Amino acid sequence: AASDPADSDELHARTRAVLPDWLALYYERPLEITHGEGRHVWDADGRRYLDFFGGILTTMTAHALPEVTRAVSEQAGRILHTSTLYLNRPMVRVAERIASLSGIPDARVFFTTSGTEANDAALLLATAYRRSHQVLAMRNSYHGRSFSAVGITGNRSWSPTSLSPLQTLYVHGAVRTRGPFAHLDDAEFTAACVADLEDMLAQTRGDVAALIAEPVQGVGGFTSPPDGLYAAFREVLDRHGILWISDEVQTGWGRTGEHFWGWQAHGAAGPPDLLTFAKGIGNGMSIGGVVARAEVMNCLDAGSISTFGGSPVTMAAAEANLAHLLDHDLQGNARRVGGRLLERLRAAARPLGVVREVRGKGLMIGVELVRPGTDEPSPEAASLVLEAARERGLLIGKGGGHATNSVLRIAPPLSLTEAEAEEGAALLEQALHTAESQLTAGRRGEQRT
Ligand code: PMP
Repeated sequence: AASDPADSDELHARTRAVLPDWLALYYERPLEITHGEGRHVWDADGRRYLDFFGGILTTMTAHALPEVTRAVSEQAGRILHTSTLYLNRPMVRVAERIASLSGIPDARVFFTTSGTEANDAALLLATAYRRSHQVLAMRNSYHGRSFSAVGITGNRSWSPTSLSPLQTLYVHGAVRTRGPFAHLDDAEFTAACVADLEDMLAQTRGDVAALIAEPVQGVGGFTSPPDGLYAAFREVLDRHGILWISDEVQTGWGRTGEHFWGWQAHGAAGPPDLLTFAKGIGNGMSIGGVVARAEVMNCLDAGSISTFGGSPVTMAAAEANLAHLLDHDLQGNARRVGGRLLERLRAAARPLGVVREVRGKGLMIGVELVRPGTDEPSPEAASLVLEAARERGLLIGKGGGHATNSVLRIAPPLSLTEAEAEEGAALLEQALHTAESQLTAGRRGEQRT
């Protein structure tokens, strides 16, 4: 057997030799994270970083949360897994908790191992229930990379194949800062998107299965529609009997601050028919799931969909993590700390030509970058800021689409303190200034030659 790689550079070379060429890694010198605590992680060289990306939101509460570590090791010491064929106490307790938190009446919960698989299950349910494989999805959306999840994903550049098992119609509404409706106010924007939806449905036989939407687009660059847009959509969907699937993989568990679920910003829309979740609920353990009204969940006679869904170990993690989240009001923390962080970053961005917009809800904050002095999305600026922030000991993410990764994504663990928010904001401000001067110096160089 090969020996353990000597350092991160050797590990990188060996990664490149054995994993697919298309596997994306952040940073010119990719990062090997060896451990974490609270809102910080350490790399193999012993450098500490403030984590403003939460391992793409998989760390919901805090890194190495002692309650989760304890619950997982106790459960792993007893039994690792038994399959969905046997009764499972932790799974039932977590399902009861999630069913009551979901807001969906007569809710049934089915666990999977990822967000992609959760969306697959939701699409399977909705298409079977409606006996139609036609679905509506939002432009610029992201729902995972399996055949059906990437097949309906609105940003088509994420899809390595143009084939899809489902027919998808793409709807306006999730992105309001760019595009044909950018000049409209909230009410006009909502009305224009509703008219667009009705127009699209008038061109079908009405037999569409579902609308799937992220309440705040995650990978798409942390963009949200005006509050209430999905309530207006719901009226139209209800007339046709079309189901509403809320993909809460990024927005669930209080991340948006004001609400526990993203759909609640559209209060009058009521609970969705189906809700999918994943990522942070396991605080690093691989969990996903779908919640649906019993009538929809039970339209299949599936036996099971996933052997590992609801494994006792992942459920132990979810139970401890969820208890910590609720007992410490981390949703309230996301609202307070996130709200101040948003204002702080807006003030920092004001003198910077590289920042087009700072937006977000709770601890889900996007910073959209452009080529200074233009309105052109700048993936180059995003890469420069990512590198400069890393140099200073801050991890952030980027998004906005495969080809247009020009939005910085800030989504720290929900226990972020005021002091850490300020520390991260100061580091990010420096990184933005560095990127701006590199870009303007680069442009001056171009003009000279
Ligand atoms: N839905 C959304 C909104 C997501 O952001 C993601 C992951 N980025 C997924 C689904 C897929 O989840 P997973 O990567 O766990 O399969």
